[in-house]
Amino acid sequence: MLKNITPKFKEESFNCPHCQEFANQRWKQIYSQQDPDTTYAFCQSCFKCSIWENGELIYPKIGIIPIPNEDMPMDVKKDYEEARLIVNDSPRGACALLRLAVKKLFDNLNIDGNNLEAKITNLVKEGFPTEVQKALESVKVIGFQSIHPGEMDLDDDDNTATVLFGILNFVVEEKISRPKEIKDIYKLLPKK
Ligand SMILES: [Zn+2]
Repeated sequence: MLKNITPKFKEESFNCPHCQEFANQRWKQIYSQQDPDTTYAFCQSCFKCSIWENGELIYPKIGIIPIPNEDMPMDVKKDYEEARLIVNDSPRGACALLRLAVKKLFDNLNIDGNNLEAKITNLVKEGFPTEVQKALESVKVIGFQSIHPGEMDLDDDDNTATVLFGILNFVVEEKISRPKEIKDIYKLLPKK
C-alpha cells in the first residue's frame, strides 16, 4: 500500500508537499539574523524544499492541509483533493470546490431537511456541535451571506479554505468513521 504521511517537523520521511511522493527529507537549518528559526527540508525525490518556521510548515501551503479522511465519500474526496492541489495558487478556486464538496457530503449523509441549511440545523438539534454551524456561516456555506456552491467569492482566502477543509474532515469523522467504529466493536461482542 502507498504510504500517506502528512509532513511533520524534523521527520525523516513523509509525503512531499510538492511532488506528493513518500520520500526522505534532508533537514537544513540556515542561520540568519532575519529569521533565526527557519528550517528547510529538501525532498529527496523532487529536490524541492519546504520551509518551516518554529516547527510549523509555512511553505508550500498544500502541506498544511491534511489528507482527506479515508472514509470520505468518493465524489467528495475528488473535490477535496483537487482543492488541495490548487489552494496554493488559487484559494478562491479551492473554496468554490470545497463549498461544492460540503453540499455533496451532506447529500450523502442520512439527515432530514430539504436543503443544506435545514440539514445542518437538524444535525445541531441531534447534538452536533454548534461550532460547526457557526463555522459554516462564517465561511458563507449557509446563512444570509451564503455563496452558491461552486461559485467564487472575492473575500475567500487561504484561511477560508483551511476552515472548509477542516469542517469536511470533521463531519466525515463524526458522521461516518465513528459510527462505523462502533459497529465494528459491536460485531466483536459474543453472540448469545
Ligand atoms: Zn518532492
